[in-house]
Amino acid sequence: MDLVITGGTVVTMDPERRILEPGVVAIEGQRIAAVGPAPLASPPRPAPRTIDATGKLVLPGLINTHTHLFQTLLKGPADDRRLEDWFRQVVGPAACALTEEDCYRAAVVGCLEAIRSGTTTVKDFMYTHPRPGLSDAVIRGMLETGVRGVFVRGYIDDGVDHGVPPALVEPLDGILADCERVAKSYHGAADGRIAVRFGPCMIWTCTREGLVATQRLAADLAVGLTMHVAETPFSVQNALDRFGVGDLALLERIGFLDTPTLAVHCVHLTDRDLRILKARGTAVSHNPTSNMYLAAGVAPIPRMLLAGIPVGLATDGPASNNNQNMIHVLKFAALLHKVHTQDPTAITAEQALEMATIGAARALGLEGEVGSLEVGKKADVIIADLRNVHAAPLHHPVSSLVYAAVGAEVETVIIDGRPVMEAGRVLTVDEAKSLAEAQRAATALLARARIPSPRKRAWRPLAF
Ligand code: FE
Repeated sequence: MDLVITGGTVVTMDPERRILEPGVVAIEGQRIAAVGPAPLASPPRPAPRTIDATGKLVLPGLINTHTHLFQTLLKGPADDRRLEDWFRQVVGPAACALTEEDCYRAAVVGCLEAIRSGTTTVKDFMYTHPRPGLSDAVIRGMLETGVRGVFVRGYIDDGVDHGVPPALVEPLDGILADCERVAKSYHGAADGRIAVRFGPCMIWTCTREGLVATQRLAADLAVGLTMHVAETPFSVQNALDRFGVGDLALLERIGFLDTPTLAVHCVHLTDRDLRILKARGTAVSHNPTSNMYLAAGVAPIPRMLLAGIPVGLATDGPASNNNQNMIHVLKFAALLHKVHTQDPTAITAEQALEMATIGAARALGLEGEVGSLEVGKKADVIIADLRNVHAAPLHHPVSSLVYAAVGAEVETVIIDGRPVMEAGRVLTVDEAKSLAEAQRAATALLARARIPSPRKRAWRPLAF
């Protein structure tokens, strides 16, 4: 036994959803060796290193099923715009100017934010490749910070007619070659801490030929797929115009969903689309903050949950959020569906937490490894102290975490059995230096991409 966490309230997220007050979590190597009420019936010998979590919460690390780490450099410049303008005026031009250094700095700070707010698994969808090496730079940030990373080698192979900068459109043969290279280089890297998936960006930036070829390559290499699906009415209409069916139905028709797929957003779905998700076991990544920020619409999440469709929560990229704080997403997810359905029972605090832990693990096909505190699973554990003015006084740990906490309550983060943050101090990288370097990179990126500084934007005043 290497590490024992004692004294805390352990929210296991196991099949019985046990909450142990107090409980013990024992870790050996990368995995959880014991979980139970304190004291353990057979205490480990020899006495291991112990973390006293008395008065604190102990939880499985949160899982962010969809972000774009490079957008860590773009928190703010694209605020308050329509999706087309958001992409054409800011995110597209910035993406064209991205360097390896930018992607690395962004990934480090994005992963640090994840760690600080209790996220242990980050799925990054890297879809802009104006030059080689950007995937490697993002993965380097994941490796150095210590997060569990699911890296999606995304791509764009079409869409100039819809405002995609030509520099972001890659030739299909180059895409497939690089997807294979990234999968062979990194899938299973760092003792299995890094996984690779492939990701056509979204229907209006992709060719049908590319979708078919990507699915074939993913099946050959046994890696999963992901794609933005039915995010906006424009996405669905684009598919209808080109193929006579919506984007999800097209994926079904061409066999894309034969490979395990995480469909991101799924806002504008028909009843038939919901049946496709259920029948094909296709999982959904729900990004409530981003959907509100870009006014994309409201995904029918309560209906998906009723149908047993796997749903995981996510932040989406920091250009449409503008942070990576999954504790915020818990609250947004619950509130969005309450107001949308005018039913305060639509999504409960417990369901929100499930969608950020065991539900998210299921959506990523990782439920055998992470998402709950159970013997044999990877030791991805967080400790949070909710005794602050935001969350206290406490009555129920899940209520306080979902509706009252702000994210800064997370003190200690263990990933793969290894502490990456302890008592509020990040142990893997120099946080202050990383922040300073990311700030420099962000300022230089806007200048290089000729994006007007947000400081110069017009103040849109109240009319009084
Ligand atoms: Fe996205």
